[in-house]
Amino acid sequence: MEHVDVAVIGGGQSGLAAAHALRGQGLQPVVLEASEQAAGSWARYYDSLALFSPARYSGLPGLPFGGDPDRYPHRDEVVAYLLRCADRLDAEIRTRTRVRAVRLDDSAFILGLEGGGELAARAVIAATGTFGRPYRPDLLGLATYAGTLLHAADYRTPEPFAGQRVMVVGAGNSAVQIAAELAGRARVTLAARHPVRFARQRTLGRDLHWWLARTGLDTLPVGRFLSAPPTQLVIDDGRYRAAITSGRPDRRPVFTGIDNAKVTWADGSTEEVDAIVLATGYRPDLGYLTPLGALDTPGHPRHREGMSLTHPGLVYVGLEWQRSLSSNSLRGVGRDAARAARHIAAYLART
Ligand SMILES: Cc1cc2nc3c(=O)[nH]c(=O)nc-3n(C[C@H](O)[C@H](O)[C@H](O)COP(=O)(O)OP(=O)(O)OC[C@H]3O[C@@H](n4cnc5c(N)ncnc54)[C@H](O)[C@@H]3O)c2cc1C
Repeated sequence: MEHVDVAVIGGGQSGLAAAHALRGQGLQPVVLEASEQAAGSWARYYDSLALFSPARYSGLPGLPFGGDPDRYPHRDEVVAYLLRCADRLDAEIRTRTRVRAVRLDDSAFILGLEGGGELAARAVIAATGTFGRPYRPDLLGLATYAGTLLHAADYRTPEPFAGQRVMVVGAGNSAVQIAAELAGRARVTLAARHPVRFARQRTLGRDLHWWLARTGLDTLPVGRFLSAPPTQLVIDDGRYRAAITSGRPDRRPVFTGIDNAKVTWADGSTEEVDAIVLATGYRPDLGYLTPLGALDTPGHPRHREGMSLTHPGLVYVGLEWQRSLSSNSLRGVGRDAARAARHIAAYLART
């Protein structure tokens, strides 16, 4: 069986940042990426998506994003940028290599690969993001729903919904962006348990990310004190608030029941809805660590600021609120990756 010092599972922004930081520690990681390219989930996000952070705040360590620093790059630019990062990375990236299960054998982690084959690693960085595990809440009657039901992870463009009655469930960035986009083609309701809370994209002539950096809020290490991620603020340059105020989409409390294609609203009224889009978030996609006993019952990693509490040679990078607000963002993941690499270097030196 092949032996390596460090295996990085996942070749998105988190895996690339981790591998870059490990190289900085003089280590030689191998990156294992399930898909055919090392750009993470970005290519699979919806077509209209643009970054909410300007280019100047969207680079990984070692390679600035480039171009006009004040623009908000489109999804495809992010993919191209991450592919450039992968090209420049002085580490082996094995694409089309999915890790199925990780177990422990003496002191090494044994990574079972899809299609057979195993790899032994002294240390592992789990950097597989969340996109592979969309969260679908157990809403009343949803199991009986007979219309089109999809998660935001499967939404691409508004065209297939033209002229339809659509409900988008959620109150975060994806929910509001998708609902506003659909409202140009369809009759849309944004249904959520709590009101949408906005954060202004620009204040006093400065982008939100300037203020987050300047005040230190972006890096405040409060993640370990949170039992659950706080409500997501919707970053808005004014157009989403205006869209909701104008009723396109309209906003309502979440429905109280569904029977077949008929939805019952909180005021008791009912109507047929053609499609429901669940923009209800994601959970860490770490099922391959179950055999190791590294996860708690709902499948969340047992960790403190990314360092596993169950296995000292296992580290996470790219978890939401892993350490701070910016942990799972392009602008922040490099900081956590650097800490992870230092931890792994120290671990390897003493074992
Ligand atoms: C719709 C949306 C919009 C966002 N917008 C922004 C934004 O504007 N700015 C920002 O900074 N952040 C944004 N984020 C948050 C975050 O930056 C992205 O989710 C980003 O893709 C996370 O990168 P990642 O590398 O952690 O995970 P991913 O990009 O999901 O990459 C994980 C990689 O791991 C691979 N993988 C998964 N399982 C395995 C396995 N078992 N074996 C091998 N490989 C595996 C996957 O194929 C994937 O390539 C957004 C997220 C979403 C969902």
